[in-house]
Amino acid sequence: MSDIIQLLPDSVANQIAAGEVIQRPASAVKELLENAIDAGSTRVRLYLKDAGKTLIQVIDDGSGMSVLDARLCFERHATSKIRTADDLFTLHTMGFRGEALASIAAIAQVELKTRRQTEEIGTHLIIESSEVISQQPVATNSGTSITVKNLFYNVPARRNFLKSNPVETRHIIEEFTRVALAHPQISFSLTHNDTVVFDLRTGNLRQRIASVFGIIYNERLVPVEEETSIVKLEGFVGKPEFAKKMRGEQYFFVNNRFVKDGYLNHAVSAAFESMISKDSYASYFINIEIDPSRIDVNIHPTKTEIKFEDEKAVYAIMRAAVKRALGKFSVSPTIDFDQEKSFDIPLEKMDERPIAPTIKITPGYNPFHPKKEQGSNQPHSWNPVLERSKVEQWHQLNRDIEKSQLSSLQTELHPKVVVTAESLTESAFIQLYKQYIFVNTLPDVLIIDQQKAHERVLYERFHKSMDTKAASSQQQLFPQPLDFTPSETLLLNELLPDLHVMGFDISPFGANTFVLHGAPEEVIVGSEKKLLHGILDQYVQQRDSEQLQPTENLAISIARQLSIKTGQALTAREMKELVTDLLTCENPHNTPTGKSIITRMSSDAFAKLFNE
Ligand code: ADP
Ligand code: MG
Repeated sequence: MSDIIQLLPDSVANQIAAGEVIQRPASAVKELLENAIDAGSTRVRLYLKDAGKTLIQVIDDGSGMSVLDARLCFERHATSKIRTADDLFTLHTMGFRGEALASIAAIAQVELKTRRQTEEIGTHLIIESSEVISQQPVATNSGTSITVKNLFYNVPARRNFLKSNPVETRHIIEEFTRVALAHPQISFSLTHNDTVVFDLRTGNLRQRIASVFGIIYNERLVPVEEETSIVKLEGFVGKPEFAKKMRGEQYFFVNNRFVKDGYLNHAVSAAFESMISKDSYASYFINIEIDPSRIDVNIHPTKTEIKFEDEKAVYAIMRAAVKRALGKFSVSPTIDFDQEKSFDIPLEKMDERPIAPTIKITPGYNPFHPKKEQGSNQPHSWNPVLERSKVEQWHQLNRDIEKSQLSSLQTELHPKVVVTAESLTESAFIQLYKQYIFVNTLPDVLIIDQQKAHERVLYERFHKSMDTKAASSQQQLFPQPLDFTPSETLLLNELLPDLHVMGFDISPFGANTFVLHGAPEEVIVGSEKKLLHGILDQYVQQRDSEQLQPTENLAISIARQLSIKTGQALTAREMKELVTDLLTCENPHNTPTGKSIITRMSSDAFAKLFNE
């Protein structure tokens, strides 16, 4: 028998090793961004094509490399960051294993242009499958530009393993976000298929968070600060009331590098205990500054997990610091961001007897012959007909209130005038079959179809924002790439302006991909994709079957898809909110397509049921 053991050629060994460091385009992005940061850059630009599968380019204005370093940096274990194993324990830089560039060069076509500030001419190097193709002098900006083309082109098994563009893009955006949040003093941009997705200026952490996640985050953050002999904590937690919607925005950084840490995550959750419900997630953005010799970074190949020497102490400090921050925040005066719903007639204090407003009226005034009015030289700044009818409405309203012993839930009257469900206690609302809301208004009972009611409410809101061209209220989302079929893409492009006004902040992001930055506040995070597909489906159906004007069609489609559905359990508070919203609608009686929403049952009608 002959010997069978062989040494693998370097190129194969490199490819195998590369798999550990570079699993997908996002891992290459992470390594390149971290190298740029280690090089002391102040401005880092990232360009992508096809979710990084075709092209990843990072351009920085950092130290640059000498001609020889440019060549060496692609060798395995080539690093300028450590000299001895002891250095591992005092490291402040991002990378330290000297493996990233070697790995990337093994599985892609790489082009490097780099120049040190002190040198006049730079160097241009092309390398494929770990093989240097050429190296030449080049005139280039100081700093480094690395282009990575066709990742895994020579490892088909890996290339085929990559996920769809939206999925890969999402991973890239996540890596980009982690790096960008850890370094607010550096400006970053991300351009995908010629669309600028992020353009982040330098600033403090609060500003960085706001420019990544949306300006609305500015008012959602509570600062966390703590300095002890072991660690220094600095950053923000999200206010408890936003916990649910901000799910997933959980960022710990140790010495300005993102880490995952379940144990510390628990410390933060413990600090939030009882302030948020069990199924919601607090958000946080906290940097932990610690002497590098007190941590072991090297336990995970991609280095997102670390081990603290004083684990328990760090836990206790974290928990206490967050708790204190939340305490401070809740005793300090807070601004109420939820705007009160406005009514035409102020009925805020229903437990007090309403008093008719004193309005000057001219006794001899005849509304049908206003010109005959004599005796007043004052120019009328108010419309007497209108004011007079308001007084009438007040009287009518007072009579109604006395009659029903209850506020003024009156849908028969002009809905704008007296309609309010606000004054009813929550016990007046009962849900049946997870479909109907019974409202006990004494002496009558209103029966309301929850889904239809919500459709009406949303429809009118979208209509209003169409009229005023002001986008309806939005929650800012973590920018998400979503892919569509070519025909959906065509339709979406047509509908973009209207969608925008209705609260969907969505923009094209490559061939059949869009990025969603914001959505109406009702949108449940995580359901955006399904929702948008549903809206487009319904739009197309209605377009084909009914003669609807496009905007109208869209408003109806969104309202339907977004509405609370039959089968959804509602709390008393939610029912009250919904009914209050419904009763302030222009037309609370019918859905936009004409279906009935409310039925009223009088006590007499009930009596009849029992042959009384
Ligand atoms: P590591 O970052 O672990 O040292 P890498 O393979 O990522 O390993 O990089 C190898 C070396 O190449 C670095 O130590 C650094 O000296 C040099 N280098 C890489 N990227 C850059 C860059 N953008 N600017 C300057 N030097 C760089
Ligand atoms: Mg590196």
